[in-house]
Amino acid sequence: MSNMTRSFFKTYFLWELLQGLGLTFRNLWVRKSTISYPEEKTPQSPRFRGLHALRRYPNGEERCIACKLCEAVCPALAITIESSTGPDGTRRTSRYDIDLFKCIYCGFCEEACPVDAIVETRIHEYHMEQRGENIMNKDKLLAVGDRYETMIAADKAADARYR
Ligand code: SF4
Ligand code: SF4
Repeated sequence: MSNMTRSFFKTYFLWELLQGLGLTFRNLWVRKSTISYPEEKTPQSPRFRGLHALRRYPNGEERCIACKLCEAVCPALAITIESSTGPDGTRRTSRYDIDLFKCIYCGFCEEACPVDAIVETRIHEYHMEQRGENIMNKDKLLAVGDRYETMIAADKAADARYR
């Protein structure tokens, strides 16, 4: 059979379409490898690197001691810190900003922090609607930390078991 005749029969009997349908039917009852996000979610690692948070100690005191190690280690120059000394003589940040548009979610800031103050949470479902919302300032970071402390502490404990 010549190529032209073969091509004619393939076109006439919709051969490619039948092949495609055959593939569909063969996979109709095969176990799915996809999920219906956002109703279904895949498991996350306790080391997932999502939205940042600043943590407090259980007595409410800020963990951050304004050592600026996170700022120094950040490869994207996404962190800006200014510090001052409080009335009790402790050094605290007067400004702590993370630019989420610059951040590459490498986790170096979390690794560098000596007091587990800055962390990356599992939160990955967030968005910005207004110009400037990409800057996570100290108040916003502390609010995330306060809200998700239980999850952060559990993830830290689980992570410690892997090390
Ligand atoms: S995750 Fe990486 S890029 Fe983002 S702020 Fe921390 S150190 Fe910088
Ligand atoms: S978050 Fe940690 S590393 Fe960064 S300034 Fe505060 S104490 Fe230092």
